[in-house]
Amino acid sequence: SSKMSAKEEVPSLEVEDNDLGLDGKGGRSLAKAWKPDSWTKKPIKQSPDYDNQAQVELALAKLRRLPPIVTPFEIEKLKASLRDCAEGKAFLLQGGDCAELFDYCEPEAIESKIKLLLQMSLVLISGLNKPVVRIARMAGQYAKPRSSPNETINGKQVPSFRGDILNGYPVNERALDPSRLVSAYFHSAATLNYVRASISSGIADLHRPLDWGLGHVRDPELQTKYSQIVSSITESLNFMRTVGADTAGQLQTVDLYTSHEGLLLQYEQALTRTLKLSAAPANALPPTDAFQADKDLNYDTSAHFLWIGDRTRQIDGAHVEFFRGLANPIGIKIGPTTETSDVLTLLRRLNPRKEVGKVTLITRFGADKVTSLLAPHIKEVQNSEYKGKVVWQCDPMHGNTRSTATGIKTRQFEDILSELRQTLAIHRELNSYLGGVHLEMTGDAVTECTGGSEGLDDDDLSLNYTSYCDPRLNEKQSLELAFLIAGFYKK
Ligand code: PEP
Ligand code: MN
Repeated sequence: SSKMSAKEEVPSLEVEDNDLGLDGKGGRSLAKAWKPDSWTKKPIKQSPDYDNQAQVELALAKLRRLPPIVTPFEIEKLKASLRDCAEGKAFLLQGGDCAELFDYCEPEAIESKIKLLLQMSLVLISGLNKPVVRIARMAGQYAKPRSSPNETINGKQVPSFRGDILNGYPVNERALDPSRLVSAYFHSAATLNYVRASISSGIADLHRPLDWGLGHVRDPELQTKYSQIVSSITESLNFMRTVGADTAGQLQTVDLYTSHEGLLLQYEQALTRTLKLSAAPANALPPTDAFQADKDLNYDTSAHFLWIGDRTRQIDGAHVEFFRGLANPIGIKIGPTTETSDVLTLLRRLNPRKEVGKVTLITRFGADKVTSLLAPHIKEVQNSEYKGKVVWQCDPMHGNTRSTATGIKTRQFEDILSELRQTLAIHRELNSYLGGVHLEMTGDAVTECTGGSEGLDDDDLSLNYTSYCDPRLNEKQSLELAFLIAGFYKK
């Protein structure tokens, strides 16, 4: 569908780049040239069937002209931090909405997410005694895979909501609308602009006291435990201030990266640019890989980090084909239906140069399955050339969705915590490192997941259920989860 003009032709990932070939065994002949549009020749899942292709082409042409949303320098900086997460030297905290709406592009919602990620990261730093890398599911998380193309609302069949980049939630806006592609770009850019502006204006300035609001924790023992963690964080920060340890201004600012599921490949292709990292400013940190610095690489500039969802990770499918050409750090969701051997095939195809931290394996098995299913995947990687090179991240959300008696989609805090606890135990037993967590959460006081210290139960869900897709942890549940994860690491 996407025909390319001569001007848009970009150098392909040359076969010579892959010392071992894409089959990992020196099979050069098998390594087909990658192009930004080579995915269009492959079978694709979850792809939109627009009925006005001319309008789609106009929108994509517009996107191709617009500036990158993020830069190669930032992307490489994140990749360097993820290398630390692979090697056990840092921990990755990734979180945000399941489906981000264009309407969430407003100051309060953005600020509350930044603050929550910051607070959670402080709790994790204090518990793990390691730096925390923060990635928001934000500024572009607009495309959703759906299990069914249609759904029934008030007895009427309507197309499913597929995320704001494709169609609207109101029933009369369910037709696919190509102008939303451009709208997604501008909402991403406006959101990220406000994230950057807030951070550079001190929203994450640790010289200012943070509001930890632990009032909801009814259990006195927990209340004491959490308060102790908060006091110890506050004391450390005071100490650093007093001794003037903030010479580099590290307390004033933090890095916050953006991410989304790379589902809508037309959009991702339009924002993929062939750029050199060496064009980065002179103050750039040493490039992750000197060999790469002067080369033209293909960066998807829609976000720093993109992941392939559980429904679109077919080895010979379009999404894997598109992702294998990107220089960005990427994630792959791994679930109960992932064959053990597929993990290695995916790694070989997506990371033939075996860059450390390039690929994050996001495991989401569910609390009842993780103990039997995770270990074989870890062992498969440990017994391969990718040992120590991937980031293992636990997504304790997507394997733990259930329906209440009245048909509300929810998740139990206990199940989420249980999958995390089991995942950590399995990694420890196998001498592997759990390098991060991936959460669906919001800074708002929603009632979408049950449990936690507030003691929400099924009957409370209707109070403030506002998710347009999966149930998210609210602010209190998210912070509490951070306290509990930190506790897993205390001797
Ligand atoms: C998601 O992260 O919102 C999602 C759809 O997850 P998965 O691909 O793991 O089902
Ligand atoms: Mn989700």
